[in-house]
This record gives sequence, structure tokens and C-alpha cells, in this order.
Amino acid sequence: MKVSVVKETTPGERRVALVPEAAAKLRAAGLEVLVESGAGDAAWFTDDSYAEAGASVVDRAEALSADVVLTVSKPDATTMAALRAGQVLIGMLSPLTDPELVSALAGAGVTAISLDMLPRTLPRAQPMDALSSQANIAGYHAALIGATEYGRFFPLLITAAGTARPARVLVLGTGVAGLQAIGTARRLGAVVSAYDVRPETRTEAESVGATFIELSSVGSASGAGGYARELTEDEREAQQQELAGHIARHDVVITTAQVPGRRPPLLVSEDALKAMAAGSVVVDMGSSPLGGNVAGSEPGSTFVTENGVTIVGAAGLPSRMPGAASSMYARNISALLQYLITDGALNLKADDELTTGVLITRDGAIVHPALATQETV
Ligand code: NAD
Repeated sequence: MKVSVVKETTPGERRVALVPEAAAKLRAAGLEVLVESGAGDAAWFTDDSYAEAGASVVDRAEALSADVVLTVSKPDATTMAALRAGQVLIGMLSPLTDPELVSALAGAGVTAISLDMLPRTLPRAQPMDALSSQANIAGYHAALIGATEYGRFFPLLITAAGTARPARVLVLGTGVAGLQAIGTARRLGAVVSAYDVRPETRTEAESVGATFIELSSVGSASGAGGYARELTEDEREAQQQELAGHIARHDVVITTAQVPGRRPPLLVSEDALKAMAAGSVVVDMGSSPLGGNVAGSEPGSTFVTENGVTIVGAAGLPSRMPGAASSMYARNISALLQYLITDGALNLKADDELTTGVLITRDGAIVHPALATQETV
């Protein structure tokens, strides 16, 4: 079976789906590995390093003709046009927020498998959990951005030129990214507080060194599968108002809140930003074209408000550490691929919860239960 890696087409995407180490492991498992020339360049993996790992370096057309095509993010229109019926595409396809892509994949007869739909709570899914591996990187990098944008020290420093008090950092959303942001800010010496709408995250946040904040106006919003549910309008308003008081008392705020398949919740309102001191920094990891966790934040841009608060729309952070992000992603996608293979061929078992969790389209139809309301092709 031929498995290929193509160069990513999303603007700014520097990750690659397989690194040479993972390519060698797939070769050892009996698969033929094709790598589009230059696919790893932006993450510093050269064509030669893939060739040394036993992969064949080929042009894009040949890579796109493999039995299984591996990607990090969604295919663009030209890539879609090159795929043919019966081929398998594995990547982070965001099917819940891109129904048009799902229909196009089904229409083309492509078997689409999406790593971001993995049932993450299954113990056997853990080595394949790309959402967690990439969120870890993003959380780490968000804390570093907060530290570099902040015009003062994170740690307590006692010097002959005076004493600097430690920065007060607030992390909103304590999932995988939030916990890593807390740990990183703590290691840099900041005093860290954290809040999440799922109260069960309290122990985890405390275990990495944060003081957990509870809001009296909003109860638990724990939803299905370890995720948060979307808040009601009233809950949202109460949350924003009560959070504003806490936000004003912090120097750096890092927001990571997400609700699967929904626009990110707004946690830091305009009023909250106005109440922050000049020189404060807000890093919005929820920043997306649909809106973010912070009023006015724009993905990929940094600006300073009239009252001197720096707002960073921190989108696409894993791509800013492409070496580490690609290595981890490559392990995740290889683990999934090998799980789906029996005796050298893909074996998509209809009675396996992990397989049905990631399988989006097959034989011209949209087969994922969460997308069942959509028209099949
Ligand atoms: P996520 O990226 O979907 O969300 C980040 C955080 O934002 C979550 O903790 C969520 O509760 C929080 N959030 C959402 N709306 C909010 C709001 N209005 N206010 C404040 N916070 C809000 O989450 P994630 O990091 O992908 O993972 C979520 C959880 O999934 C983890 O904490 C864990 O419990 C579970 N998980 C389990 C496994 C496993 O069992 N192996 C693996 C990965 C994740």
C-alpha cells in the first residue's frame, strides 16, 4: 500500500504530516512511503532526510495518486480536484465546521478520516490524539508570547537596581492548552490563576501550580465527552461581568476556551479590556475568523487598545513551532494509520468506536453520526 505526504497548502502552515522518523517506522511496517519534494522544508525536514529514512521523494501529482494521502490541515480546491474515488485522505479536516468540504469529499468518492474527530477518551486513542499534542504546543507558545509582549518580568527579581514583583497571569480555559500555559507561565516565575467552566478541571489546574477561581454567577457547564457545553445568553453575560473584575487584577491573560463545533465563547468583553491597566497583555488562543475569546481580537494580528492593553490574536500557534509540532503530529497520524491497517491493507471496522469516530466519508456517502443530518451524496 502506498502512503504519501503532501506539502501543506493552507497559508502560513509550516507543519508536515510525517517526519523522517515516522516515515522510517511506516516503511518498517511494510508500507511504501512517498513524500512530495519540499513537503518538510518549512519544518526543517529535508528531502534527503526522508530519502535516508527509506521514503521516495516524488512530485505532487505522484504523491496525490497514493492509496492513502496524509495531511495536517484541509485540502485546498486544487488538491481536492486531484483526488480520485477510492483514495483515503487522513488529516485534521474540521468536518463539523466545514460541511462543504465534507460534501465535496463524499462527492469525489474519497474515504475521509479526520484526526480531530478522534474519540479522545478511549485509552487506545491516546497515542493518536493530535488535538492534545497540538494544544500542548499552542499552550506553551501562548505563555511565551505573553511573556515577550509583557513589558516587565514574569519572575520575582531582586536586583541592585530594585525589586520586580512577579507577573500575575490569568489562564481562562484549563483544557490541554490551558494547563500547558499555566505550567509554562509558572516555570517562568509568574503567579498564575485559572478559571474554567468545568469545575472538575480545578484539581488539574492546581496540580500544575494555578490558583483556581470560582465564579458565583455561573455553575458547571460540563458537557458530553469531557468538553464544555455552550452557555446560555444569560450565563454568558453573567460570566463576562464577573470575570471582568478578575481580569482587571491581572497583568497577562491567556484565553484558551473552546466548545467543539461552535464559535469560541467571548470571555473578555470590551468593558473588561477597558478596566485593565496600561501595559497588560491579552493572548487570545480562541482567535478565529468566527470571533474569539477576546472582544476585537483578530487572528494573526497584534494591536494595542486606547488604554494601552496589547491584544494578541494567537491563531495557528503549532505552526510557529513546526519541528516539534510535526514530530508529534507524525506520531499521532502514524499511530492511527497503523491501527486502521490489518495485514497490509486498510480495514475500517464498522463495529469499532474509534474507527467510526474518525471516519467521515466512505463510498460516496457522509457516514459520521455527528454529520448524519447532512445530505448523503
Ligand atoms: P477544548 O479545547 O475544547 O476547550 C478548552 C477549555 O475551554 C476546556 O477545558 C473547556 O471546558 C473550556 N471552556 C469552554 N467554554 C468555556 C467558557 N465559556 N468559560 C470558560 N472555559 C470554557 O478542550 P480540550 O483541551 O481539547 O480538552 C477538553 C477536555 O477533554 C480535557 O480537559 C479532558 O478532560 C478531555 N480529554 C481527555 C482525554 C483523555 O481522556 N485521554 C484526552 C484529551 C482531552
